[in-house]
Parts: sequence; structure tokens; C-alpha cells
Amino acid sequence: MRGFSDILPPASRRWGMLEERAREVLGGFGFSEIRVPILERAELFSRGIGEETDIVEKEMYTFEDRSGDCITMRPEATASMVRAYIEHKLYAADPLVKLYSIGPMFRHERPQKGRHRQFHQVNVEVFGVSQPMIDAEIMAILMHYLSLVGAAGCRLQVNSLGCPNCRLPYKEILRAFLKNHLPRLCEDCRRRMERNPLRAFDCKVPGCREIMSEAPLISAYLCAPCAEHFAAVRSYLETLEIAYEVNPRMVRGLDYYTKTAFEVVAGELGAQNAVAAGGRYDQLVAALGGPDIPGIGFAIGMERLLLILPDEPLSSGPSLFIAALGEGPRREAFSLSYKLNRAGVRTLIDYEGRGLKAQMRRADKFGARYALILGEEEQRTGQAILRDMKEKKQEEIPLSSIFEEIIRRVKGRSP
Ligand code: ATP
Ligand code: MG
Repeated sequence: MRGFSDILPPASRRWGMLEERAREVLGGFGFSEIRVPILERAELFSRGIGEETDIVEKEMYTFEDRSGDCITMRPEATASMVRAYIEHKLYAADPLVKLYSIGPMFRHERPQKGRHRQFHQVNVEVFGVSQPMIDAEIMAILMHYLSLVGAAGCRLQVNSLGCPNCRLPYKEILRAFLKNHLPRLCEDCRRRMERNPLRAFDCKVPGCREIMSEAPLISAYLCAPCAEHFAAVRSYLETLEIAYEVNPRMVRGLDYYTKTAFEVVAGELGAQNAVAAGGRYDQLVAALGGPDIPGIGFAIGMERLLLILPDEPLSSGPSLFIAALGEGPRREAFSLSYKLNRAGVRTLIDYEGRGLKAQMRRADKFGARYALILGEEEQRTGQAILRDMKEKKQEEIPLSSIFEEIIRRVKGRSP
């Protein structure tokens, strides 16, 4: 199906590596993993993300299941994580809860580079902290992860979207501006103008972009607490020595954000240039039926992250190939290979009983770093030959302690 991909080896190893690093980094900062279902009631997203957003208006996979319930394949994870936080009263002991989740999201979009219908995110959320320190910390964690995995050319952009107090009057002003440019706006922007004029900043139609480059900006209309919060976030970013840019036109595609919003963009990605994005959502927990607890989080788009990683050669070949000739040695190779694999030495044998030359060709083909030769001759002399395929050297090792000798030489060496 278009927009749905298989992740094949050896690329799947890089996926595994990225997920492992995310677990390490997040675990180190005190986050715990949460796994939420892929399906949720459709209304969770329409209420959470907002009716007049691209996601809810055009992108959700929503269907009626066999019991007539209206179900959606999650297009993002924050709403589900908030639902779980409320449903399981995770705030009961203390509202401060740090969670992360890794998994697929589904949006019916036009597939292209960096845009898929099933894509994958690492999602990170902190509940229960309204202080701006956490905003800066969470961005710092994101930037740390991106640099740790080797993502190149990442720039952090931040903005403040204000709160209902300052956003409502600002929306009026923006609406008035949009009305003046009505004939040149796309259909979506016109339709959303009444209830959600901010959406126009996120519109990708060139004509709308041009108009929006002249639009009044929320930064000039922030209320005192929002302006103070934003200034503090920036100063804490500076304390942590995190480079950032203020992008006053960044609004994000989801309605739940309040105050801080941020994106990490990478020039290399072209039109789909956001690798990760997030923000504060101080009203979302309450809006979804929970207590009045603030939250902040971000999502990293793994497909886009992969696009900006350097292509390092990924080898998944065995460390050791055992070439064996004759029934006795083949049985010996079979058992030794099992024990070595169990001990963490990636070992491959030839199952087909080919000749020595053919077996060595296979060792080459699979890119094995070492080849062990076990033949009738070796059995007689009690010595096997271990060949270093890279250095083109070989040595004899005694069969009596072959397992230990191989472990000593091969384990931990890259192929
Ligand atoms: P865009 O503006 O590119 O559509 P978005 O604002 O819809 O992105 P978010 O909902 O904030 O994106 O999702 C966070 C991250 O998830 C994005 O920064 C991106 O890396 C990734 N992402 C979003 N949609 C897709 C998609 N269809 N395919 C691949 N990655 C995606
Ligand atoms: Mg989108």
C-alpha cells in the first residue's frame, strides 16, 4: 500500500540503534516507557488535536468497527498518553510524571520524501511542571539525543503561542488581517479563518505563505505571564548552552499547544523539514476530562531522522564462519556454532555440506571477519585453522580449548 513501508535488514539495525539510544538517553533523564494502544476512540483526537486541523479534517484513518464504535488509528501519541495519564490516575502520587513511547502513527497524507502514511515517532511527555525550566530541559534532551545519534544540520526553533488570555484578542487581530486578504487565501485558510485563524501560518500553499509573511505576530500580543515565561525559557536554554532561533511564525499543526512551541528543522529535508516538534499543552489534561495539570512534550519523526543521518556502512554479517568437512567435523561445527552464538559471537556454518572452496566463498560473501576450518586433517592433528579474513593471516588453535580460544580472539571485534 502506498505510504506503508517494510523496514528491511540491514536498515532495521539502524532503527534498532536509534530506539536503543532513545531509551538510554530518556532513561538517564528519568523517563519511563509507556505503551499505549494504536487504536483509540475517534473523539479523543478530534477533541484533543482540534476539529479544525489538517490531521482531524483530512488525515485520520477512522472507521467503524464491528460493534459500531468509531475508531481511529492514532495519528499522534500525545492525546493517547494524556488519556492514559488521566484514566490510570498517574497523577495520584505526584503530578510530575515523565513518560516516553516509541511506535507507529498513521496519517492519510500524500506520500513523498519524509512523508508516509505509517510513520514512526519517539514521543516524550512531562506532566505536572508549569515552570519554564522544564521547557528548556526537554529541548536540551531532544538536541542531545539528535547530536548523539549523529543527526547533522539540526536547528532548534522556538516560539510562544500564548495562552487563551492573550491568544483570543490576538486571533481577532489576525482574523481582521486575513479578511483583508480573503480573495487570495486558499480554501482551507478561508474556512478555518473564523474559528482558527492561526492555522494560516501553517499553510503550505505558496500564496498563503506570502500573505502570512506580512501578518501580525503573536509575539507582540503576549500577556505578561506568557511573555515572562517565554523570556525565561530562552534564558534557561542559554544556561544549558543550547543554540536556538526564535521563529515567530511557527504555530504547529495541533490546537492544544499553549506558550512554548518548538521545532527542530534540518535544511537537507526540503519541504518536509521538521525532524521533531513539540510544545507545552497546559490545558489538554483538563480538556480531556482530567485535573488541571500542565504538560509539555515532543515527537521525533524517525523516518526524517534517518534521512539526515550519515550513511555508515551497516554490516550484519557473521563474525565467524565455520567451514567443516566430513561428518565428524560438521557435527563439531554445528555444536560449536550453537555455543558461540549463545555466547554472543555471531557464527554461521554451511548447512549444505559443500566443498571447502565453496564454503570459503560463502564466508567471503557473508562478510565474515574470521573463518575457522575444521576438516579430517585438523581432527587428526588436534589443531584447527582460524583465518582472519581481513588481515589475511591465519593461526592454528588447539581443538581441546577451541571455544575459549575463539571467544578470546573474536568476541567484541567488529566484523
Ligand atoms: P508537517 O508539517 O511536516 O506535516 P506536522 O506538523 O504534521 O509535520 P507533527 O504532528 O508535529 O508534524 O509530528 C511531529 C513529527 O512527526 C514531525 O516533525 C515529523 O518529523 C513527523 N511526521 C509528521 N507527519 C509525518 C508523516 N506523514 N510522515 C513522516 N513523518 C511525519
Ligand atoms: Mg502534517
